[in-house]
Amino acid sequence: MNLLQELPSQQRRAIELVREVAQEKDTHAYLVGGPVRDILLGRQSIDIDLTVEQDASTLARALAKRLDGRVRSFPQFLTYKVTAPEFPEIDLATARKERYRKPGALPAVSAGRLKDDLIRRDFSINAIALDLIDGKMHDPTNGASDLEARVVRVLHERSFIDDPTRIFRATRLAARLGFTLEAHTAELMRAAIAADALSTVSKERIWRELFLAMDEIEAPRILTELSQDGALEPLFGRKGNGTLRARLEAIHAELAANPDVDRYVLYTGALLHGDASPIDFEGSGFSQKRARAVVEIANELPRVLEELSAATDDRERFLIYRSVSPEMLVLVAAERADERAHLQRFHEYVDFRLPLRGNDLEVPGGPHVAKALEETRQAVFSGEIPAEQARAYAKAVARRLLEEVHQ
Ligand code: ATP
Ligand code: MG
Repeated sequence: MNLLQELPSQQRRAIELVREVAQEKDTHAYLVGGPVRDILLGRQSIDIDLTVEQDASTLARALAKRLDGRVRSFPQFLTYKVTAPEFPEIDLATARKERYRKPGALPAVSAGRLKDDLIRRDFSINAIALDLIDGKMHDPTNGASDLEARVVRVLHERSFIDDPTRIFRATRLAARLGFTLEAHTAELMRAAIAADALSTVSKERIWRELFLAMDEIEAPRILTELSQDGALEPLFGRKGNGTLRARLEAIHAELAANPDVDRYVLYTGALLHGDASPIDFEGSGFSQKRARAVVEIANELPRVLEELSAATDDRERFLIYRSVSPEMLVLVAAERADERAHLQRFHEYVDFRLPLRGNDLEVPGGPHVAKALEETRQAVFSGEIPAEQARAYAKAVARRLLEEVHQ
């Protein structure tokens, strides 16, 4: 099992332990799906997803006992998760057959053999199993040769109809791996979209797939392809969006420098550019605040850019910056290279602190104290007064404000 030698030691140790415990319990455990695909591609780190032909609960419990860890079970999926401190998570599933009673509905699940479990999967490259006991590969759908050919291929004609979320999975996986859709698969996908297959899936499930796409490094490409293929029409209707790819790329570049802003808000705003309304978010689970931020960045960017063009100094500019969401500021930076230096200065200003507190001002408490401190902060930051004079300046401002109140 040379393939496993390349993995990080923690994961090797986990797999070794699974092998031991499975042998003791006289069961076969298979590493299956994503991790086998990733090992064959020479990727360094994997999720440990196992399939067991008999009831997976026996092996799950035995593993947890050995590790002094715990088992969580998800009975409707016949799956178990074993966790233990400082040990990689292990997911176990009982091999299963699936039957789609109705397009787009979740399948009926029953216990099956390994082969049943492999041929019900989404793509051939995700349908390979590695027997951890004897090291044998099980590849009933020729996934290994598709890995060589670098293609994503579905396993039967109705695949995208049975489960249209595979449209998103195929696009996402191909972009992540730098693969293409096998020609007939691409045809089936187009046909499923044209036949409105996605209307059989809830909006919530489509949004979940969309968020997964936004989490990928290749998000700009994936979102552009999904949009061009018409896969987003069930959510947003038909929206023209000619410069989508460039917009998404610019956002992607800014996200690297601003990891704390909300990528879902920004990418959704770009998808809805120029034409967002609250009904577009049905099923997204967005809070009102996030929905408002999306509408703002989709619809208000031209107005904000215009206002910024008219601003003549930092004070005016900072007022505008303060009136919009952090995501809008990222978008402004993405759109306007000449605004970046001002934004940089604004962020410095926001973070700028004086070693001065309300008590230092020796005036009675009230709203004038915070106001005086803020005015002083601005004055020192902009260079109007030197830092040494901050305290005296703040005192004077506070007294003045207090007098104004009493007049
Ligand atoms: P990732 O690296 O994104 O986790 P993955 O291939 O492991 O990729 P998962 O979503 O974790 O993807 O799913 C695990 C496995 O379950 C897949 O490899 C695939 O075999 C199977 N699978 C997942 N979703 C579907 C689906 N919609 N239809 C059929 N099989 C699926
Ligand atoms: Mg996975």
